[in-house]
This record gives sequence, C-alpha cells and structure tokens, in this order.
Amino acid sequence: PEVGDQFTHSQLAVRLAAPHQLHPKPDADDLVFGKHFTDHMLKIAYHRRLGGWQKPEIMPMENLVLHPAAKVFHYAVELFEGMKAYRGVDGRIRIFRPEMNMARMNASAQRSGLPTFEGDEFIKCMSRLVTIDQEWVPHTEAASLYLRPTLIGIEPTLGVASSDSALLYTILSPVGGYFTAGATSMGVSLLADPRYTRAWPGGVGDRKMGSNYAPTIQIQKEATAQGLQQVLWLYGEDHQVTEVGTMNFFMLMVNEQGERELITPPLNGLILPGITRDSILHLARDWKQFKVTERTITMFEVKKALYENRILEMFGAGTACVVSPIERIYYMGENLMIPTLDHDEPVWKQICTTLTDIQYGKIKHPWGVTI
Ligand code: PMP
Repeated sequence: PEVGDQFTHSQLAVRLAAPHQLHPKPDADDLVFGKHFTDHMLKIAYHRRLGGWQKPEIMPMENLVLHPAAKVFHYAVELFEGMKAYRGVDGRIRIFRPEMNMARMNASAQRSGLPTFEGDEFIKCMSRLVTIDQEWVPHTEAASLYLRPTLIGIEPTLGVASSDSALLYTILSPVGGYFTAGATSMGVSLLADPRYTRAWPGGVGDRKMGSNYAPTIQIQKEATAQGLQQVLWLYGEDHQVTEVGTMNFFMLMVNEQGERELITPPLNGLILPGITRDSILHLARDWKQFKVTERTITMFEVKKALYENRILEMFGAGTACVVSPIERIYYMGENLMIPTLDHDEPVWKQICTTLTDIQYGKIKHPWGVTI
C-alpha cells in the first residue's frame, strides 16, 4: 500500500529481535510499575513533507535518537495513553475498551497541534505487538501488561509552533497491582491542600499530556513527606474535589433526601475523562441500586456530610489500580476519617470485581476485546 495521509495496519513491517536481544522476564514479585520492558516496540513516523504518516514498524526495543532542538524537549509537545492487556482465565489476551483510549489520544493530539490518526488501525498495530510479545503478558490475575502509546513532536526547530514531524510509538511493560501487595485491603490517605491545583478552566486537564504531570511530582513528594499516600486535587475558592492522584474520584453517600447516591465530578475540563470512570458510571446506572450523579463536590459538602455520618465510601478509579479505597483525607490541619473500609459488602469492591471479571474474561462483555 502507498504511504499516505493515514497509516494502516496492513502496511506493518516486522523485524523480530535476534535471540541474543531477548530480555529475561522479571519475577512476578518484582513488577515495579514501568520498570521492565518487553523485547519489541511499535513505531510510526509522521513527516508532513513526505505526505504524512509513514508505514508502521515493529522492531526490537531500542533507544530513540532525536535532535536536541526537537520540540518535545522544549515545549513538552507530548502526550500518551495508558492501557493494559490481560491474560484471561480462558487463556485469551484482552484489552479493555481500546477505542476509548484512541479517542482520548486523538483529542490530546489535536490540542497539541500534533497529527491525528485512525484509532482502529493503531489498535490493530498494537495488538500485533502484544501478540509478538505475548509471553510477557503475566500468567496471573494479579498482574497485566501495561501498554504505553506515546506521541511526541520531533521537528528540530525551536519555534513554538506545530511540529511538522512526529513519532507515535508504543512500549510494553509487565506490571503488578499499582499499590504494593495486600494494599487493596488497606485504604489510601490523601493530602488535600487548596494551595495547589492541577487543572483550570480552559486548560488541558482533560487531555493526557505529559505537561500535566511534571508539576504534580513536587506535591506528591510533599504528601509523601507528610506520611500521606496520594494528593487529592482541589480547584477553586470553594475547594472543589477534582481527582485523586492519577485517578478519578468517586463518593458514595446518603444524600440530603436520604437516598444512597454515587457521585463523581463532571467532565467540565478540570478532570481527565477516565475510561474506568465512564465504565463505572455505565455499570452503576445499570445496577439501579443507588442514584448515580455527575456533579461538583466541594470540601465543604464533604465535611458537612461526614459530620452528619452520611458519607459511606470514597475511592479513586483508573486503569492502574482499577479501584483504590480512600481511608483518610488530611485537609487544612484536620484528619477526615472516611469509613470506606467499614462496610461488609462495599460498592467499591463490587465495582472492582465486576471490572476485573470483564478484563480477565470471567464475564463475557463487549468491553473486553480479544487481540
Ligand atoms: N485522571 C488522571 C489525571 C489520570 O492520569 C488517569 C489515568 N489515565 C485517570 C484519571 C484515570 O483514567 P483511566 O480510567 O482512563 O485510566
């Protein structure tokens, strides 16, 4: 096929690693997030002067060689995705709602002035990569293979302008549970400090760009130094709750009308449109066990409801950990104790079990896409 504006999976060229280039697989108990990588990677170059997207290539994992003026190094012209491949109980490998990651990645590309692409074709190229490195998909339900699709602007000129060349690539990393073993039975503690914010109206908090993450590292360090595990990101004078670490935020409460209600902040530009978030909303609305609402939550409301014993559960949700129960929030000199772990059949666990059952093929569901 001709090289054209778009790439297709049928153009894919594969160069396999020689036996001496293969890496030893890590032990299951050494799966620190993003530390080990598989034997191959996927690369697709974009050059406007050569007609756009070039042919996709799978090759042995290798370093990139880039000009020091490449825009990615100066203006963070960069975005990424995070998804996982799971080895199911039936032996088949599944990815979860990958078309959602592709839509979000193209939205990030568009906002970065980088070229967009056909998501379905990229999924097929990545599926081929995972198939080639399939022995790296852990043989356990306690782990999975993380996919990191990345798009960078590589034009070697210093102007703040759209990059006329780009590189789209995917690397793969076997990962365990995001938190250390046994941690799902223990809730996380959060630093909620209104002096810091991660996103604002008109900004890019709803895009998965590297530039959103670098400024969070120092605040996460501050949380750690205070003996807290994650940051609860607030926004505005009224201290709106937006996200928790790199997860979307959920709260199950008894509302003022006495009904059980699951609430998550709305997609108003301040939060990433999480695929786990969207999936939880779908499941919970389907279950009809409680009211499900997307609306703004403020720390004032949290404190008041907590004082009135109306908060039942709080949790973060994302690809890395699925669901992470929240136990404590340190806010303006006060420890707010959240009773998430005090229930026999908590909603967070029901959600976590259903999602992982779909991911590991125990429940047949269109969200679990076999590769
Ligand atoms: N918020 C932020 C800031 C994130 O980085 C992520 C991880 N992608 C999420 C939420 C959760 O999104 P998802 O469910 O798609 O992993």
